[in-house]
Amino acid sequence: MFLPTTLEEVKRMGWDALDVILVSGDSYIDSPYIGAAVIGKLLARAGYRVGIIAQPDVSGTDDIGRLGRPRLFWGVTAGSVDSMVANYTALKKKRRSDDYTPGGVNNRRPDRATIVYTNLIRRYTRQAKRCPPGHTESPQISQASALDPGVPNNPPPILLGGIEASLRRVAHYDYWDDALRRSVLFDAKADYLLYGMAEQAVLELAACLRDGRDPHDLRGLCYIAKEKRTGYLELPSYETVARDKQAFIEMFHTFYQNNDPLRGQGLCQKHGDRWLVQNPPAATETQAELDAVYALDFERAQHPYYEAQGPVRALDTIGFSIPTHRGCYGECNFCAIAVHEGRTVRWRSPESILAEAEALTRHPGFKGYIHDLGGPTANMYGFECEVKLSRGACSHKRCLYPAICPLLKIDHQPQIDLLRQVRRIPGVKKVFVASGIRYDMILCDRAHGDDYLRQVVAHHVSGQMKVAPEHTEEPVLAVMGKPGTGSLLEFKRRFDQLSQQVGRQQFLTYYLIAAHPGCSEYDMQRVKQFASQKLKIHPEQVQVFTPTPSTYATLMYYTETDPFSGEALFVEKDPRRKERQKTIVTDRPPRISPSGKGRP
Ligand code: SF4
Repeated sequence: MFLPTTLEEVKRMGWDALDVILVSGDSYIDSPYIGAAVIGKLLARAGYRVGIIAQPDVSGTDDIGRLGRPRLFWGVTAGSVDSMVANYTALKKKRRSDDYTPGGVNNRRPDRATIVYTNLIRRYTRQAKRCPPGHTESPQISQASALDPGVPNNPPPILLGGIEASLRRVAHYDYWDDALRRSVLFDAKADYLLYGMAEQAVLELAACLRDGRDPHDLRGLCYIAKEKRTGYLELPSYETVARDKQAFIEMFHTFYQNNDPLRGQGLCQKHGDRWLVQNPPAATETQAELDAVYALDFERAQHPYYEAQGPVRALDTIGFSIPTHRGCYGECNFCAIAVHEGRTVRWRSPESILAEAEALTRHPGFKGYIHDLGGPTANMYGFECEVKLSRGACSHKRCLYPAICPLLKIDHQPQIDLLRQVRRIPGVKKVFVASGIRYDMILCDRAHGDDYLRQVVAHHVSGQMKVAPEHTEEPVLAVMGKPGTGSLLEFKRRFDQLSQQVGRQQFLTYYLIAAHPGCSEYDMQRVKQFASQKLKIHPEQVQVFTPTPSTYATLMYYTETDPFSGEALFVEKDPRRKERQKTIVTDRPPRISPSGKGRP
């Protein structure tokens, strides 16, 4: 069942008011991959009356006011992707397409959507407060005000969530401003922010607001306070880090290290004469909680109100895919998953995944293909480090870099079993593993690594398998926190061998990054050489590095310093030279025609 998006739908449900209104930068796609849909349906299952306004028109308040005001709170998210990443390329050019917008044209998600939507709600609230029900200038708002619970001097609070808010929760470098920005809570002037995967926290917050209890102690919550909070670690102030890059490096280390649900402490950061308070991280979801999320009755379709405006391309990939787990301990320095989802992997039970796969076969649009069965890293399903589970992730070392930690007992058997069971379900023709695979983990698992790869090669790829070495030069790989080329070449050898054994002509596709901190044009020439000599390919999947908020690589980009050694680091900042780093690898040499045309 879809959540209501219009006044007529609210009335059809027999509701006289909404408890929660969610505002999202994505279209309303009712899918377990879309945060607003997950949060909305979880709240609805807990008994709250929830409506969704997706991609509101920001030119006026009619659209944001079309459902009236909620009784408990507004929830605001920029959507599945940070709005600046969604709207601009790595070279800061405007993107034309958006996979989460009806029709695919990038014309509905404003820059800094979290801030824009919050301002819009405040404007609407002020406007609705001035005009009694039935007397607003807009007929749409006038109608919706009939649903307004009417607490004129106490407007419902605004809660921020989603990846944009989560990664911008403390002072952070913003590539598009080329400057440090304050916590988004200050810029948006919202009341609360829930960071990370906030399903359980949002239920707790809703219960507090419903019961009139103070929510300020909830784990996973950020808020603004007049005073510093006793017992919390103090980060250098926004003003200090904005003028002192070394202080920003120290701030980021403290921020990153206090992201663990078992070890993380509360943090405070002064902004002007007020404080950003970040409570310790919420506990990771239990398996029962995860299973309950994915047992919700998602339609796996765009809501008809938005479908009428055009299809969304995102459904081509997420429509019939199944998430098996969350979190990643890969900690590649350019990736934000460790900060947003956490370093602890937690996974769904096989029963829950099989039930979802069986439900897919009954969906009218299902053609027999599960497009992905995976998570942030496909082969992290079903095992975790016991030390991490009992004491939290180590602060002084990483699980996979520079070498795989011996305490991480890698075991591909649970995933082998899962893949086997899913592909046996009647109605399932093929199950793809499209999520990235850590090949160093496969090589490390002497008991089951080869069997896992054999299963994947024989049943779960179609012609091409994507791998993400990201680079081939050891100094750049070290800056990225990625494994060396030795494991890549060994993996390629086994992949080719197994493909041959199962009688399939299959290839590896390599994802690479250009202009990452520490990478020069010379390094990219070496990548090209390595690709043609050792991998026997001409790479096409090369992306210019984007400094997204709250990653170590972004910290390196801004400070031009290796934050672990303190040494100066080369960083390419000129857009043309960044592009050249990419084209060094992707440009094919000019064809020489028999007449000699094209010869330099
Ligand atoms: S003991 Fe090893 S695998 Fe476990 S959290 Fe620490 S670094 Fe990671």
